[in-house]
Amino acid sequence: MDEEIHAGDFDAWLRGMIASLRGDEGTEVPCGSCVGCCVSSYHIPLRPEDRAALARIPASALVDAPGLPAGHAMMGYGPDGHCPMFDGTGCTIYPHRPQTCRDYDCRIFAAAGIMAGGPEKRVINERVEAWRFRYADADACRRHAAIRATAAFIRDRWQAFPGLCAPTAPTGIAVLALKSHQVFLDPAHEELADEERARAILQANRDFGRPVADDLPGGAGGPQSSPCETSPSASLGSNQVDLGGIT
Ligand code: SF4
Repeated sequence: MDEEIHAGDFDAWLRGMIASLRGDEGTEVPCGSCVGCCVSSYHIPLRPEDRAALARIPASALVDAPGLPAGHAMMGYGPDGHCPMFDGTGCTIYPHRPQTCRDYDCRIFAAAGIMAGGPEKRVINERVEAWRFRYADADACRRHAAIRATAAFIRDRWQAFPGLCAPTAPTGIAVLALKSHQVFLDPAHEELADEERARAILQANRDFGRPVADDLPGGAGGPQSSPCETSPSASLGSNQVDLGGIT
């Protein structure tokens, strides 16, 4: 795709995404007319607070999702990969759509330098390729490069992680990279063996909720998570710090 789409200022986006992952605030995603996440074979988690959506989604659109907490549900997709609430042009429950749909921000894949998935994610992958961030200064460029390097390490060196607990789904890789990119911002990481880098990434992930976790202006506290402790099929919603994406 030759088209370029402005993704906004990188540091502003990163601050917002960090706040979203910490559950501090939601994200403002400039989707425009894109319906990529509605047609890309995603399962959509529904939380108890998605009452308005749940009231409008037929039971036949929900799928079994063993292990979900009480009050949570999962919406499936059709053979064409389309969400049951998508009518071919848009979302039929848009004003009442689930929080996961409101929060889904495919710029995280552009930030991590990875695609959203295989052919079933074609529409989103095209969007990911088109996003272009602006950078206020060289430090912003360094931060972006560190996130990409971290994502590449998680993707390519998953064997280095204790218990092989590195995420393998694109969303999980991108989220963990964003949360732990401090490891690759520190020049000392070049001296580390792969196993040490992997442990440092996991520690950074555990530290993510602590105010000292990153050097980006505006960092704040919040919950912690570990990739070994979270479900691979959890959501990328603003109130989640899970590592899996809508699957
Ligand atoms: S509920 Fe609406 S916004 Fe969410 S994936 Fe389905 S069609 Fe898209």
